[in-house]
Amino acid sequence: MKIVLAALNAKYVHSNLAVYDLEAYSKCKLEKELRSEIKPDISVREYTINHNLEQIMQSLYKEEASLLAFSCYIWNISEILNICREIKKVSPKLLIWLGGPEVSYDSEKVLKNNSFIDGVIVGEGEETFYELIKMYCELEAVLDKEEQSKEENSKEDHNKEVYDKKQYPDNSCVEDISNNIGLNDYEKEFAKGKERYLSNIPGITYRASDGRIVKNLPRPLLSLDEIPFIYEDLSRFENKILYYESSRGCPFSCSYCLSSIDKSVRFRSLDKVFDELSFFMSNKVRQVKFIDRTFNCDKNRAREIWRYLKDNDNGITNYHFEIAADLIEDEDISIFSKMRPGLIQLEIGLQTTNLRTIKEIRRTMDIEKLKNNMNTIRRMRNIHQHLDLIAGLPYEDYESFVRSFNDAYELKPDQLQLGFLKVLKGSYMEEQVKEYNLIYSDEQPYEVLSTKWISYGEILKLKRVEEMVELYYNSAMFEHVLLYMESFFDTPFEMYESMGKYYEDNGFVDIGLRREDKYAALRAFFKERFEDAIKIFDSLLTFDYYLRENAKTRPKWRKDSMIEKADYNNFFKSGGTDELYLAKEGYDSKAAARSMHIEPIIAESASWITGKDYSDVKTEWLYAVFDYNSRDPLTKAADYNIITHL
Ligand code: SF4
Repeated sequence: MKIVLAALNAKYVHSNLAVYDLEAYSKCKLEKELRSEIKPDISVREYTINHNLEQIMQSLYKEEASLLAFSCYIWNISEILNICREIKKVSPKLLIWLGGPEVSYDSEKVLKNNSFIDGVIVGEGEETFYELIKMYCELEAVLDKEEQSKEENSKEDHNKEVYDKKQYPDNSCVEDISNNIGLNDYEKEFAKGKERYLSNIPGITYRASDGRIVKNLPRPLLSLDEIPFIYEDLSRFENKILYYESSRGCPFSCSYCLSSIDKSVRFRSLDKVFDELSFFMSNKVRQVKFIDRTFNCDKNRAREIWRYLKDNDNGITNYHFEIAADLIEDEDISIFSKMRPGLIQLEIGLQTTNLRTIKEIRRTMDIEKLKNNMNTIRRMRNIHQHLDLIAGLPYEDYESFVRSFNDAYELKPDQLQLGFLKVLKGSYMEEQVKEYNLIYSDEQPYEVLSTKWISYGEILKLKRVEEMVELYYNSAMFEHVLLYMESFFDTPFEMYESMGKYYEDNGFVDIGLRREDKYAALRAFFKERFEDAIKIFDSLLTFDYYLRENAKTRPKWRKDSMIEKADYNNFFKSGGTDELYLAKEGYDSKAAARSMHIEPIIAESASWITGKDYSDVKTEWLYAVFDYNSRDPLTKAADYNIITHL
């Protein structure tokens, strides 16, 4: 029997841990329990939602599988249903099962609305999927035997009515066949009808042969240690982010989150975790993302793992964690402070700073402690911090969200993720829809359109802000110029809000600006408002431009401020100056000229870059010397020096 586990990822670099877990768990158990001749051929196929759906369908059709199972999420369910609908037309015998958070809650509705789906795995899938395919394999084996027996018996022209197809799967008929072809007791039992067996598999909802939709009892939760490690063969995950699960579930109760429904948290034993982390280390993988919902909900356990990573660092691998920053203790900070820059990165959910909202969404969070910890970690300059905010929460109106945004911005995270409330099926938030006048899209991702507190027009304004933050702040390519721009506005929010409006008014929204265009648009926005300050702005914009990249073309707005070629070459030929002495051992002036760049900057702008006071410098122009061979391990920005003369 051929079984395909399929995933539709958001990006090529993603991989779907769930389907690999199901594959590994089933293979491992079936190895012991099924005779080799009836073992299924299970494989994983991954695609992205950017693939042409028809091509995905063609590729899956060519697999000639007997059973196709998809892992479904809020962002891929429409595409998956489209593929399944089409493939069932051309492969009517193909069994199609769905699983994952997007189909678990209303599995009966999924089956009712989609006649081409045979069943849904509800909740945690490993054991359920294994039992399901074991049943199908055994059923297929029984039917094969029946088929063989029919052939033999028809040769002998014996007892034809027993093999009347129309009678199958009538129990008495199967009983007769079973007796005739020498099935063992289990096989006989099994052949009495797969539905009886389906009815005994916890954690599924399926379509019975009479058309009824049957939902079985829930599946008891598994010990995480029973799930095999899936990365033994790393060649399957080349150029992919590796996802790793050291715990499942969350003890907290945030009303918008499905992880809050089942409060049990299960942990993989630390010995296993250390072994598996050590495998990643010795194989020098680039990035491992822990998918644990709140990695440090058990503070001591999290600390053990962080300590292990610090003590066994291979100098290459980066580990990503979703944490509750208010649970960080001094001991964690002490471990963090000794970590290599870039060894770990932290994703922190703030969501809002409105206390009434925090209470209403049942979130447990000590905001002051979170802020203190984030500030301490930021000052250490070795750990990237991502901070998440959610717009559209109860009791958060536009003004309140502006305050939350500014509070979050003040923490200077490396990434500020501004998300919009999604009303997930089965969440407590969904129960409050009437109470909150919560209007949200009927289709995935069920995103908020308006609430009792915020209008659709205001949500749209926030969308523009989110776009600007993504384009400029999160790209990390405009660090110094943004800092300067902020000084012209009362708050950072006000700045991003006006930028959003400017972009909308000028048709820049949703058109995918090229790199150069992003700089040009930002400059046009600033110039229109603060023309008097454009010189310093240009100087900082150019500095940021070269900070990331040894650009071959000069930016349009700074064609005039070139250094004479002779001065440029002389600087390197003479091995730099007293201020910046380059001619150390092994110095090669030509190589240095190629891998470095000198850019004049206005003296007044230098303070925005370095934070130092340059008021005693007599010249108007200073020089930034960038070295692209040496970069900040965390931000990847080139190292630079500011000198007063060439
Ligand atoms: S802490 Fe995170 S994972 Fe846990 S319930 Fe809240 S939002 Fe969900």
